[in-house]
Amino acid sequence: MSLALARKYRPKTFADVAVQSHVSNTLRGAIARQRVAHGYLLCGPRGVGKTTLARVLAMALNCERKRDDGEPCGECTSCTRTWSGSSSLDVIEIDAASNRGVDDARDLRERAMYAPSGDDRYKVYIVDEAHMLTREAWNALLKILEEPPPRVIFVFATTEPQKIAQTAAPVLSRLQRFDLKRIGPADITRRLATVLAAEDVTASSDALGMIARAADGSMRDALSLTDQVISIGTGPLTAERVREALGLVPEDEFIAILDIIGSHRAGEIFTTVNRLADAGVDFGVFLAGFADILRAQLTVVLSGKADGVSTTAAASLAERKNLFSAGDLLRMISAINALEPTFRKSGQQQLLVEMLLVRMALLDKTVLLEDMLAGLGNAADASAPSGGSAGVGAVRSAPAYPPATPVARSAARPPNATPRHPAPPVRPISVAAPSSPPDWAPAPTQAATDASVQEMKRAMESTARDTNRSRMTPEALREERLGVLRQKDPGLGAAIDALDLELLD
Ligand SMILES: [Zn+2]
Repeated sequence: MSLALARKYRPKTFADVAVQSHVSNTLRGAIARQRVAHGYLLCGPRGVGKTTLARVLAMALNCERKRDDGEPCGECTSCTRTWSGSSSLDVIEIDAASNRGVDDARDLRERAMYAPSGDDRYKVYIVDEAHMLTREAWNALLKILEEPPPRVIFVFATTEPQKIAQTAAPVLSRLQRFDLKRIGPADITRRLATVLAAEDVTASSDALGMIARAADGSMRDALSLTDQVISIGTGPLTAERVREALGLVPEDEFIAILDIIGSHRAGEIFTTVNRLADAGVDFGVFLAGFADILRAQLTVVLSGKADGVSTTAAASLAERKNLFSAGDLLRMISAINALEPTFRKSGQQQLLVEMLLVRMALLDKTVLLEDMLAGLGNAADASAPSGGSAGVGAVRSAPAYPPATPVARSAARPPNATPRHPAPPVRPISVAAPSSPPDWAPAPTQAATDASVQEMKRAMESTARDTNRSRMTPEALREERLGVLRQKDPGLGAAIDALDLELLD
């Protein structure tokens, strides 16, 4: 079996850890000037190079052919052993997650008292997941950190430095702390390109971009994902192959959904979501991908350039520049964010996605809180008629709420935006209670989401128990869901009625 890319291409010098140059340059300089500290704390998210830097530091300290600038040679026996993480007398790696107790720490303390194996060598203890150490274990280590034996170095690596601050604040003052940063998609893409060139694998830039975005700041994850993609097939790495390997939703599906929402074809949401479910899409992955597309569309609206998507998707989004206002896109992104805390735990993910998308598709048909507030604020200015609200005015200037003067909103809509439906006046539900959130928003709290999902579930279950009912068709099920939706969300119900949407087939 071939060596995993993340291992094979683990950096061997400080210069190779380029992304974390603010840390690696400092460490290299300390070695060159022989001003190495006794204890280091490397903090940062997973997969950004903490253990790698600790190993390079240990290599540099013990290298037989160390360079004047502090870089290890990367090739001598000492370097090779340390780099591969194989057992060594002088470089000891400890996983604090499984050696977290006071006895382990005492054992470590006693072992640290033994001198390194040679006069010119250093003993380096690399403690991973250091936040897992108990308070007692830290206390046992504190002594040795206060009076360190000569040429003994501790490097602690952690993803959660705040936990160390809680359990072992006095230790922190004995350590030099470095914060490693998340690795951005551009840096990851560059590194992947280098690695794949060395592996003689050609890859499209879209494919690399997708992997980089999926890796979410972790170089190790990016390389593991690349391994995964390479393993399913042969030939060049294409966007299609990455999508298949990582279970990503094709970008054109997202674009199609944008079109559905933009033209308020709410009824098509159900068939689209059903198709995705049939294709085995993970709805969590779906939401993350959809949020990325909305974010990219927002960057198109604000700056004219799509950010963080493939070139094909960027072109599609640019064509839809006037489909949504920045405000609409922000609302949709917040709606996804609001759903996130409850979503993973929910047993009704498909339903939640459907509700979310239907709400988005009906976005413009319901009352927008900010308009209403603007209207209330301008109520005193009775001399200003609510003109210039073409397109969206049908809803906002409905006679039911006279103070509406939607001037700001109409400015946000370019005249060549997709024409809105000539909507009949919608009953302005939220006008009655201006302090309540707008109707289109997702259920605002976890409790509310759970409650509405539970309610829906109960309704479905009671139907299921009804022995007289005919066999449940997908249409009937849909109708029932909508019925509950209407009940829970009068604004939505009103909008459906008003538009006479063909949701019920
Ligand atoms: Zn060496």
